Amino acid sequence: MKVTTVPVKTYITKSKIPGAGYVINPYVGCPHQCLYCYAEFMRKFTGHTEPWGEFLDIKMSQSILHPAQLFHQHVLLSSVTDAYNPFEQKYQITRRILRQLVDCQAYVSILTKSSLVVRDADLLRRLPGCEVTFSLATADESVRKCIEPGASSVPERLKALETLHKAGIPTAVMAAPLLPGISDFRAIVRAALPYTRTFRFDSLNMRATFQHKLMDFVELHYPQLLALYNQIYLQGDTSYWTQLAEQIRAYGAQQGVCVEIFFGRKSSFSFAKTPDAKPNPAVSPAGEPQLF
Ligand code: SF4
Repeated sequence: MKVTTVPVKTYITKSKIPGAGYVINPYVGCPHQCLYCYAEFMRKFTGHTEPWGEFLDIKMSQSILHPAQLFHQHVLLSSVTDAYNPFEQKYQITRRILRQLVDCQAYVSILTKSSLVVRDADLLRRLPGCEVTFSLATADESVRKCIEPGASSVPERLKALETLHKAGIPTAVMAAPLLPGISDFRAIVRAALPYTRTFRFDSLNMRATFQHKLMDFVELHYPQLLALYNQIYLQGDTSYWTQLAEQIRAYGAQQGVCVEIFFGRKSSFSFAKTPDAKPNPAVSPAGEPQLF
């Protein structure tokens, strides 16, 4: 792993992600090495020639720019890296940023595959609104080891979810990306249900950057699913997702949980509020094509 510190003017970027006015990516690159990582395009923008997952730029900046602008604004951590990758333990860039976001009184949404986020529970409690979403593509640890080798294990993530829930911090689970025939959405809900009532679901969007890696994995471990993957990703048959969305809705109703399905549209981020926080007007992804 090649690790470099890189000075930057600011951490903050305007975001087009529904529900998040701003996004902060404290790092470039991600050692979690997910097989399906959609963020590999960042190599092109940053001039890296190393394989994705084998470099990490640690962004160094004195402050987030114009902190007054962030007062009661919605900030997402992060969109093209994981703010709690294992190097955060040492460098504490995300923790420093969070301290500033507390000063700004921003609304913060964190999306992570790392249990390290529990370290910052003290800061999260001081925000006017926040939500920590744990990403879980599977509840099966043997599958997780193959598809997200550098991320926290499934039990570690569930334990972190429990810890934050018990600390009074709003939590959610993003069951994504759902791998056809491999991800068991019911098992994900069952595992996380005691510690959150909010579940979001997204499908696997096959991208050229990881298609070969992912299909090699399917061929090696699930050769019986190759026909299904061809049907979905070569022939463009969406019936699998239509049926899965129906099953998820039915199961969610049965379990009494809040279900959001993003198949075919961009995920939005909502912000659970503390009592004195204002409602988030940008939660609804208006204008996005809604296939399901
Ligand atoms: S955690 Fe996110 S950014 Fe990091 S490798 Fe996985 S998908 Fe990519």
